[in-house]
Amino acid sequence: MTDEELHELAGKQTALGELRGAPAADPVNVPMIRHWLDAMGDTNPAYLEQGVAPPAMAQVWTMQGPRARAKDRSPVDDILVALDDNGYTGVVATNCEQTYHRYARLGESLTPATRFSGLTGPKRTALGVGFFATWNVTWYDEDDEPVAEMLFRVLKFRPPDKREALPPYPLRPAINQDTAFFWEGVEQGELRIQSCADCGELRHPPGPLCPRCRSANRAHTVASGEGTLFSYVVHHHPPVPGRETPFVVGVVELPEGVRIVGNIVDCPPEEVGIGMALRVTYRPMDDQLVLPMWTPREP
Ligand code: ZN
Repeated sequence: MTDEELHELAGKQTALGELRGAPAADPVNVPMIRHWLDAMGDTNPAYLEQGVAPPAMAQVWTMQGPRARAKDRSPVDDILVALDDNGYTGVVATNCEQTYHRYARLGESLTPATRFSGLTGPKRTALGVGFFATWNVTWYDEDDEPVAEMLFRVLKFRPPDKREALPPYPLRPAINQDTAFFWEGVEQGELRIQSCADCGELRHPPGPLCPRCRSANRAHTVASGEGTLFSYVVHHHPPVPGRETPFVVGVVELPEGVRIVGNIVDCPPEEVGIGMALRVTYRPMDDQLVLPMWTPREP
């Protein structure tokens, strides 16, 4: 269906005007009200004392499950299905405005009526290109008097192709005064560990002060590039831009006496084990960023 045809269908559905749906399966009743008040944390005793329903419950009385909805289609359903068929499968509610004419009373039965009131689009949104669909529902009592009304609007959008949408590797290390020496080392193929210029204590990650003597004088040493796996996790989810899951993130213990976090590569996750011997390797993530990672060291 073209965009013009979608608008044509919307025009037809709008021309249908207000269509009655199935009456509520149950009259306005105490158990539902009590349950709703409990779920909302509303402790006002007035509703049950006066035998009326909280107005915001309007939708509760007539909301249908998917099976009933398939039988009892509203003028909105055809539009939503057509949008789905056109690839606008994403949905997010953007507006809900309710108008209350009076309280619904215990024992009365409500009947909804729906009219489709507008389709705009396609529009470019932060979520993707999509259409805004708007409809109105009015709940009537047994005398055909309106009790409550609602305007509802959704954005039906075309979800962007995830692979396309994700930039190659957007995660960047924070490079600052404390960490610049480390990343300069990585560029030169050196694994640099910060040291205290006064007492010689090594520390990682880098920081402004020596945790042992509190000196702010810093130096660094170049690690051998060997280590053993102290601990690890296998990351399955969520997806990380520029990476294929699953991947292994390890805590590697260096013979120099500090631990460092990095990916374990060139080894299937099921073969990774605590205590395995590792060697640092430098892997380009894109044309700007190289990360130190860890690969199994042959015995
Ligand atoms: Zn120190």
